[in-house]
This record gives sequence, structure tokens and C-alpha cells, in this order.
Amino acid sequence: MSSETQVEAPAQSAPSIRYISTRGQAAAVAALEAVRLGLAPDGGLFVPEDFPRLDGESIGRLGQMGYSGRALALLQPFFPDLGGPGLARAVEKAYDSGQWDDPQVVPVRWLRGWRREVGLIELMHGPTCAFKDVGLQLLPHLLTAALERRGQEAVILVATSGDTGKAALAGFAGVPGTRIIVFYPADGVSNVQKRQMVTQAGENVHVVAVQGNFDDAQSGVKRLFADQDLAARLASTGRRFSSANSINWGRLAPQIVYYFSAYVDSVRNGAVPAGAEVNVVVPTGNFGNILAAYYAKCMGLPVGRFICASNRNHVLTDFLRTGLYDRNRPFYLTSSPSMDILVSSNLERLLFEVAGRDSGQVRAWMADLGRRGSYQVGPPVLARLQQDFWGGFADESQTRGAIREFHQATGYVLDPHTAVAIHVYGQYLEQTGDRRPALVAATASPFKFPATVAEALWGPGAVAAATGSAGAAPGARERDGRAEPALAEPALVELALLEELSRRLGQPLPGGLQGLGERPVLHTAACRPEDMPRVVAEILDL
Ligand SMILES: *Cc1c(COP(=O)(O)O)cnc(C)c1O
Repeated sequence: MSSETQVEAPAQSAPSIRYISTRGQAAAVAALEAVRLGLAPDGGLFVPEDFPRLDGESIGRLGQMGYSGRALALLQPFFPDLGGPGLARAVEKAYDSGQWDDPQVVPVRWLRGWRREVGLIELMHGPTCAFKDVGLQLLPHLLTAALERRGQEAVILVATSGDTGKAALAGFAGVPGTRIIVFYPADGVSNVQKRQMVTQAGENVHVVAVQGNFDDAQSGVKRLFADQDLAARLASTGRRFSSANSINWGRLAPQIVYYFSAYVDSVRNGAVPAGAEVNVVVPTGNFGNILAAYYAKCMGLPVGRFICASNRNHVLTDFLRTGLYDRNRPFYLTSSPSMDILVSSNLERLLFEVAGRDSGQVRAWMADLGRRGSYQVGPPVLARLQQDFWGGFADESQTRGAIREFHQATGYVLDPHTAVAIHVYGQYLEQTGDRRPALVAATASPFKFPATVAEALWGPGAVAAATGSAGAAPGARERDGRAEPALAEPALVELALLEELSRRLGQPLPGGLQGLGERPVLHTAACRPEDMPRVVAEILDL
């Protein structure tokens, strides 16, 4: 590893952080135990007892390190039980082993020409071209470190709304002592996302389609974790369930790093004066990414506002405006599927902080959510939320409009999730006039969503034209010799479009998306949500 990572950790306090539950009815545990357990035994989420604080000088020093060095320096206080060398090895495997197609791992790119200059935190340079790689490349190494100490093996259960599934598969494939089962909603992921998952190789990986939407898949996985009988049978074989969802501390903590990293890079290239406050704009689903930004602020990063961008499933926008969280509403499938979520699990961690760490209060809200599907926070908590957070949403045509407008203004092509963020940031600028510089989380490559992006840039006609010629797409006709292979498999139409988009934009496809059409489909299992326990038992020979 480069010498940069040997710089001393700059954190100044909280030398030995332990983790407590947001619901207050579980004992405090060490970091690796929090990673191993995923969810706290009382149903709450693990949060650090305390946050290390960095002063301006320590933040400035991060500017002289590479990404791995920054990760090591920032994460070391959070994982005292792993030890410096252990964490250095994990970080090296995650960020220095050739899986990232940019030497900076997470570069920040400042663009002019749109309504105002924005700094895009490019989170799509990992193996699956979306931001979840940042957490999921590191988590397996933290988890195996935790399990080795107990002589256990992990069975990772994941419910995915798209990007998590592939990123988790890529992170865990071939990692000794682990097995991973990914459940994706049959009607809730893009064809490219589905194709990426069902072609994943590795003898320790399993992929299952669930009939229903993301919440059905996620509830199903929650029931699996709560199934005592299944857990006991698994334990008798020396294994245990573990989570790779964004509630796992081992996935959330690595996301804190890129906010510091983008900030110091922005200072270095002159876009942000040292010490100045920035706003952070995040396209949000399960609330993990934006929560990591909030934690960065708790650690001393100078952030003004967190702008929480939602799509048509804007339960969070409504919550931030009224204090009423209400999941009783229609669920929409949108062009930003990783944000099609009605229960944002990580919000519980923010509630814990804004309620002054009152776990009784958190329990009451979560009980209401379970019973009625809604809860209402009182005026003081709402006021505290609104001090830091601002919520907005984009509908489908606004999302496409943002892709088109931003491309015309800057030449840069946004993916639909990032486009939601840009649209909402536009609303924020109009309504508040807040001129602080903004960092925007750019969460995926536009090539993961070729149909939406092509339609946004060139209109529905362009998509029809490209897909009309899809029968002649490379690989399609030769594959099975049928007359209309494109109609027989929509994924192939989308893959043809992907090539077309790459050609028309003059940008090569990222490595993770090359040759998808030619890879063999390795996973065809499907089930109803209620059959998930049976499917898991079969896979694990229980
Ligand atoms: C997961 C994801 C999001 C939402 O992130 P959360 O941490 O769930 O809020 C946004 N964009 C993309 C591309 C994603 O994969």
C-alpha cells in the first residue's frame, strides 16, 4: 500500500468507541460485533456511542493522502477492535486492488454552465458502477474479520431494490467463510440491473426473484432474520445470518469517508475555500447515504444543509415538511428504482440523534410505524430536523427534464437518481437562495439506465429507433437463433440500447457493463414472499 496510508489517524477523541442500539434495550457492543450482528438484538440499529471529532487542521491533512489513507484515518477510531494493520489490510483490499476505474476511487468533479456550479461526488467508479460499491467492497473484509474470531461462517441475506444486490454479490463473491443470498423484486429493478445479478459467478452466491416490490422483498428478509427456528438450525451448522443492507454499520461507516474526501479535494482544487460550509445534495432511498453525510458533520465536516431528494415515492419529503412519516400511500415504480422505497430504515438513526438519543421515544415511533404505518414527531424534533435537512422530490418528467437540461448546459450525462438530486437542488436554490457551494452525490453511471437516459436526451422516438434495430444487436440473434430475440428478452433490447447510447455519446461503457449480453444466466430461481424461508432452507441444506 502507498506510504500515504501510514499517516497517523487524525481523530482526536473517542479512542475506543462502542455501539449502542437506537432502541436502548440491548447491551453496548464492540465495532466488529455490531458488524457481525447487523441489526441489534432489540430490533434497533447500532450507532456509535460517540463520534470522533476532527478540527480544521486534521481535515486539511486528509488532503495530502490518497483515498485509502483517508479511509484508514477516518475509520480507525470506529473500529478499535480491528486494529490499525487489520483495518489497513481491509481498506487496501477494498480500494487499492484494481476494482476501481478511477485512480482517485471517488473523484469530485466541479461543473459549470448549469444554474450554478456544482461538485459531483462521482460514486460510480466501482465494479458495479453505483455508489453502493463504496460500502460493499469494504464490508466483507470487516465481517470476515469479525467472524474469524468466533470460528463462524456468515450467510448474508440481502433484499435489493437494484444496485445493492449486484454490489453485494460483487463484494462477497469468492470471499472465504461467506455465502450470500440476494432477493430482488421481480417488478422493481431495471433490466440491466437484473442482468448484472443473474449473471454473477461464484460458488458462494445465490440470486432469487421475489414476486412483489422492494418492500415485499425487504419485509421477507426481515422475517427471515426474526425466524428463531431457522436461526437455530443454521447455528447448529456453525453458521449465522448477517446483513449487508445499508443498516449494517460496516457498510454505513465507509460512506462517511467520501464526504470528507470530496470536501478536501474541492478545497485543493479551489472550488471551496478551506473551512467554508458546503451544502450536500443526496438522492435518497433507504437514507444511508445522506445519513453518512450527517455523521460526517457530527465529526466536524463543515456542512450547512442536507438536501434530501426523493422521486415520486416522496414519503421523506412529506416527513421533512410536516413531521408526519406516513407509509400508507400508493407505491410507484419509477425510473430511479433504488429510491422506490416507502420505509427508509436508516432514518431511525437520525431520529435517535434529533430526539436527543431518547431511545424510548424512538421505540414509540417505530411501534407506531409497525402498527399504523405512520408516526408523527413533535414540533421541537421537527424544528431540529429542518435546521439541517431540506426535502424535495422530482416526478418522472422532471427527472428526464433534469437529465436533458443538465446535459445541454454542461455536456455531462446524469443517471436518473442523480438527476432527481439535481432537480431538487434546483428547487432548493429557487426557494431559499442559499448560495453556499454544493456537493451532489452522483450515485450511478447513466449507462445503468439506458432507456431512461436515451429517452431524456433524444425523446421516445430515439429509444424506439434504437430498440427497433435491437434484433441485430451484437450477440442477440446469434445467441439463440430465434426470429425475434429482442422481443423474447427485454434485457437484450436494453443492452442494445446501452451500446447505442455509448456510441452516440462517444463514451466507452464502464467495465462492469461491458459484454453483459454474452454472459450466461446462472440464476433463475423465483418465489413468493411467503416462500422465502423454504427457499433459504433449500439453498442452505437445512
Ligand atoms: C441505493 C441508491 C440510492 C439511495 O441511497 P440510500 O442510501 O438508500 O438513500 C440512490 N441512488 C442509487 C444509484 C442507489 O443505488
